[in-house]
Order: sequence, then C-alpha cells, then structure tokens
Amino acid sequence: MRVTRTIADTRADLAPRHGGPVGLVPTMGSLHAGHLSLLRGARAECDTVVMSLFVNPAQFAEGGDLERYPRDEARDLALAEDAGVDLVFAPSVDEMYPVGFQTWVEVTELGSILEGRFRPGHFRGVATVVLKLLTIVRPSHVYFGQKDAQQVEVIRRMIADLALEVELRALPTVRDADGLALSSRNTQLSPAERERALALPRALATRNAAEARAVLERSNGLVVDYVEVADFDPSVLAGAVRVGSTRLIDNVPLEGDDT
Ligand code: AMP
Repeated sequence: MRVTRTIADTRADLAPRHGGPVGLVPTMGSLHAGHLSLLRGARAECDTVVMSLFVNPAQFAEGGDLERYPRDEARDLALAEDAGVDLVFAPSVDEMYPVGFQTWVEVTELGSILEGRFRPGHFRGVATVVLKLLTIVRPSHVYFGQKDAQQVEVIRRMIADLALEVELRALPTVRDADGLALSSRNTQLSPAERERALALPRALATRNAAEARAVLERSNGLVVDYVEVADFDPSVLAGAVRVGSTRLIDNVPLEGDDT
C-alpha cells in the first residue's frame, strides 16, 4: 500500500491505473467497521482502491470539535492495508487549502436544511473537499455511508449539477450490537452517555417523526436538534441529538431495507 501526502504524488501514482475502475473512499480517519464496509464495497468492484484520510477543517464550525476529533494515523494505515487499499492519500491542511484559497462549492438548498441549519457552512466544506478529492483522484466510483444521508444527497446533487463523471455508491449504516450507529465520535462518549445515546436509534426505529420525538423527549440528558422526515433518495427519518458535548446524527430509510 502506498501513502501519498501531495496532490502531485497522488496524480503520478494513479496515472497508470486509470485504465480500470478506480474507487475512492473519502474518510476523516479514526476508522471503524462503517469505513471498512465502504472499503470492502470499493474492493469488490474496483481494480484500484484509494482511501483519503483528511480531517477537513472547513467542515467544522469555528470553536467546534475539530481539535477534539480523534486521530490515529498509524492505526488507520494498518486497517486500510488489511482492507486491501492500494493508496492512501493523507494530505496536510496546507496541501488542500493553500495560502490564498478562496474557491467554494455550495449546494444551496440541500446544504442549508437539517444538519445545515445547525452547522452553517458544514456542507460547503464537505462539497468543496469532495470535489477537490474527485479532481485529484479522478475515481470512476466514490463511496459514502448512508449514515450521513444528507451528505450523500448533497454530493449526489453536486455530481449531477456539475456533470462530474463518477458513480456514487451509498452503502448501509453499520451499527453496534446495541443499535448505535458506528461513528468516530462515539469514542468521546462516557459509558453513561453512550447509554443515553441509545435513545436515538430507538426513537428512529419507530419510523415516525412524532413518535421518535416523544421517545427522545422522554429520555434524560439529551438535547434534540431535530428529528424529521427528509425527502431524500431513499426518504429517511433523520435525527440529531447532543449528549454532553458530543453531537450524534443517525437516520433510518423509510423505504427498502432497514439499515
Ligand atoms: P467520516 O470519516 O466520519 O467522514 O466518514 C467517512 C465515510 O464513512 C462517510 O461516507 C460516512 O458516511 C461513512 N460512515 C461513517 N459511519 C458509518 C457507519 N456507521 N456505517 C456506514 N458508513 C459510515
């Protein structure tokens, strides 16, 4: 497995590989079984699998949890290698946002509802970094988790609007045995907070916004940002709660299978 830090090295490394399918799995590291499922999906259909590892400051709010975001590059590289990744692109912030950077992609409507209301600028940061990763890697396929259903919808819209030549794959949410969706932020929960956080998947399992809100409001120690049906593809019941200083999001599809 190769690890590149610069755009130039990444392009040079990938140049001979563009004859066959190239899969890109964008991540912020701190890998868990959700990421591994995306890597497996990419491995199954692509000759070359690229994972990006970049904690994107542009998608965190000023004074948000960027500093607290868990990082362990050595562990991530070992897991990526085990998963059969060919190349990890792990750039510095300066490589992705050089001095003078001022070009942003904004998916205006989809980026401003739900998560966008509580995290202004978040999807602008996401769309911009994903577009830049797509231009650097030029994958035929790009993989995202349904766990971040709005992110999938925003990227799908960007791909259509900008006529990008890439196939988007959205793979089901991977959960722990107790129902909590895997997230790098789960490591920030104390055992008691984790117990409280379980109200989120329990609430969403009702598949009804009013019932889900009632479940969440009955649970102590949770602040509900939203719980709403979102008209995505597929439509989902999506929720975001704060448990202590950790913010968790989750959703369940309202059509198709039940992940
Ligand atoms: P992140 O590193 O949190 O930016 O996530 C990288 C990718 O993994 C995104 O496409 C996420 O939607 C996806 N992902 C995160 N958690 C899960 C999960 N529990 N199940 C499936 N995919 C996930």
